[in-house]
Amino acid sequence: MDFSLTEEQLAIRDAVRSVCRDFPGEYWREREEKGDYPSAFVDTLTKLGWLSILIPEEYGGGGLGVVEAGIVLEEIHRSGANANACHAQMYTMGALLRHGSDEQKRRWLPEIAAGRLRLQAFGVTEPDAGSDSTQIRTRAERRGDHYVVNGQKIYISRVEQSDLMLLLARTAPAPSAEERAVGLSVLLVDLRAAGGAVETRRIPMMFNHHTYEVFMTDLHVPVENLIGQEDKGFRHIIDGWNAERCLIASEAIGDARFFLDRSSAYANEREVFGRKIGANQGVQFPIAQAYAATEAASLMRFHAASRFDAGESCGAEANTAKLLASQASVQASNAAMTTFGGNGFAAEYDIERKYRETKLLEIAPVSNNLVLAFLASHVLGLPKSY
Ligand SMILES: Cc1cc2nc3c(=O)[nH]c(=O)nc-3n(C[C@H](O)[C@H](O)[C@H](O)COP(=O)(O)OP(=O)(O)OC[C@H]3O[C@@H](n4cnc5c(N)ncnc54)[C@H](O)[C@@H]3O)c2cc1C
Repeated sequence: MDFSLTEEQLAIRDAVRSVCRDFPGEYWREREEKGDYPSAFVDTLTKLGWLSILIPEEYGGGGLGVVEAGIVLEEIHRSGANANACHAQMYTMGALLRHGSDEQKRRWLPEIAAGRLRLQAFGVTEPDAGSDSTQIRTRAERRGDHYVVNGQKIYISRVEQSDLMLLLARTAPAPSAEERAVGLSVLLVDLRAAGGAVETRRIPMMFNHHTYEVFMTDLHVPVENLIGQEDKGFRHIIDGWNAERCLIASEAIGDARFFLDRSSAYANEREVFGRKIGANQGVQFPIAQAYAATEAASLMRFHAASRFDAGESCGAEANTAKLLASQASVQASNAAMTTFGGNGFAAEYDIERKYRETKLLEIAPVSNNLVLAFLASHVLGLPKSY
């Protein structure tokens, strides 16, 4: 299998690289200092069509696959930027693309592709459910032509920066403990029409991220905004997980390459004891180890994403890619902190910022423990541990 990039893929990479040059470290540091959302960055990516790359051409999108979307995200992260502010449009699009009706797709996708509507929020996690999403308590009761939603979500990113939110809510009780995924539905919430029925509270985080507690009180959602089948929503969400894992892996690989680029350059330049610090094996070996881990993760990511784009099963590959890539980026971030010494802690070098940012990829949107549990039970046939 050859995973070298095609001419078109190289052109995508170079184009995104060039856009990101306009948003250097100073830009991200200033956003963090002010706690700002990086609107200029997101607007630029939107205008250039990079966030709608997965939307089919007939709806005004790029009509490309997860491989290409991953190249975009990797390049953003490799430049030192962070796609957290806008990647949900790629992650969440799948539910609407695969399970939305033709009418829903005609109504929403061209607006999203044109950048007139932002689908940046995905409401799953709840304070008392966590990784076990089937235990969510948010209820959507059907009353005539609309649902009435009541409940609370936590860590819902970009809800204040989005027009639409995909919401997972319980529409019927689970028939039994074994069938606890049944009775959940996916609703497309138009946040612009929600008024006081949706309240949000920003959660201060260890890096500049816009994530919120969301309180829904008698929120009315038209029945026509149900995505896919009522009570089968959990399956629709799961369907998108493999694409999401490939995309997260791509971000982690981008982060890892950012650390490798910066570490190699710094280790080749900084002199202590009369020689380059990179001449010391204590400095160069961790960088080389992280490089090897990153390359392996990248191959697995392309393998998984190619299978996804070809319509082949890829649960084992996508989960493995997510695990290896997030571990490689943390490994590379540790190597960078060692290489930069005291300067690793100074904001102006961007190492400490990216070090904080990349840690998230081990935990969200799915924690590596749950990835391991999937590999153990679904791939290796071990007893299910949850
Ligand atoms: C910055 C940020 C942004 C986020 N954005 C969103 C968003 O936009 N939308 C959204 O819905 N959610 C979002 N989340 C939530 C995120 O998806 C969850 O934090 C993540 O899935 C883990 O769930 P939890 O925090 O409830 O951890 P818990 O489920 O409470 O788990 C805590 C720890 O226990 C481990 N654990 C739990 N059960 C098991 C088990 N059976 N076996 C082994 N280990 C286990 C977990 O791996 C984890 O390490 C975000 C989170 C963060 C931090």
